[in-house]
Amino acid sequence: MPNLKEAAALLARANDVTLLGHVRPDADALGSALALGRALQQRGVKVRVSVGEPEEMPETLRSLDAGGLFVTASELPETEQLLVALDTPTPGRLGKLAPRVDAVRSAGGDVLVIDHHASNVFYGTHHVVDDTAEATAVLVFALLEELGTEIDEPIARCLYAGLVTDTSGFRRARPSTHLMAAKLLEAGVDPDKVVREIVDDHPFAWLPMLSDVLAGARLEPDEARGFGLAHAVVTLDAARSVRAEEVEAVIDVVRSTREAGVAVVLKEAEPTGPRQRWTVSLRSAGGVDVSAAAGELGGGGHRQAAGCTAEGTADEVLGKLREALSRAPLL
Ligand code: AMP
Ligand code: MN
Ligand code: MN
Repeated sequence: MPNLKEAAALLARANDVTLLGHVRPDADALGSALALGRALQQRGVKVRVSVGEPEEMPETLRSLDAGGLFVTASELPETEQLLVALDTPTPGRLGKLAPRVDAVRSAGGDVLVIDHHASNVFYGTHHVVDDTAEATAVLVFALLEELGTEIDEPIARCLYAGLVTDTSGFRRARPSTHLMAAKLLEAGVDPDKVVREIVDDHPFAWLPMLSDVLAGARLEPDEARGFGLAHAVVTLDAARSVRAEEVEAVIDVVRSTREAGVAVVLKEAEPTGPRQRWTVSLRSAGGVDVSAAAGELGGGGHRQAAGCTAEGTADEVLGKLREALSRAPLL
């Protein structure tokens, strides 16, 4: 694994560390940050974990922060000696916290980037970047082993959360994935509880919302290079009765469509100008590389799970996505 020893030495020398995940963090971003944060805190390091957006920790991920390490972006100190960015391929994905990278570097501090995106642009002073890793949590686990950290249950819970979600419930797994999971279970993780809290826990209001949204879903069998495209649109109006977590979960229903090799969900965002704004989730069943299509619209991600933001009407954005998907590389 690249630079593991050097990164571990950097962490072992640190006494004040800020750990950041990408905006609108998932379980891999926050779980990785909170696991490493807790391990460093146990070594006597002053640590804090944050994200550029939203201000609050997402409700479904709160059980990961056993030690209360999360602070809002506005509570962060001016700067820090060591900034660790996790699951974040570009500074832009840190949102409004992106300028901290240059600020820390120009003040002579270090920036450690720990990530598994192929699109990582190596913006730190130190990097543990491996696009063959299933999750950033895998890289943090390797770092903790290098540091000789004893993995307690809260650390294991955070890493398990990242691992189980980024592999879509161990669907994309190698023998080493399950070996890591076994060590985390040995440390005391309750897998049913973790997955239920993070993935499978929705208010009843999700069901009528889902019913509305899925009624508008469409299947276009010839799109996505003939693999088929299924798409659905979640307007701000449809999303009003539920949390962001329920909106994010819609893609997991749409992607189960047998006739579609690619699933897309358009999620309307609060407008910042005259035009409608959307965050887009793309998933591939393995036929085409959706990160390339997302990349054409200024986003990115992984070959089978990607995203982007776009402006315009839903039809305009879908039109751009169809075009980008018609050029997406085959896997
Ligand atoms: P999501 O559909 O939001 O769960 O995103 C799936 C994956 O796509 C994430 O793990 C990120 O790697 C990536 N991603 C999502 N949105 C963006 C974006 N706006 N820019 C770059 N990458 C993104
Ligand atoms: Mn992520
Ligand atoms: Mn990840």
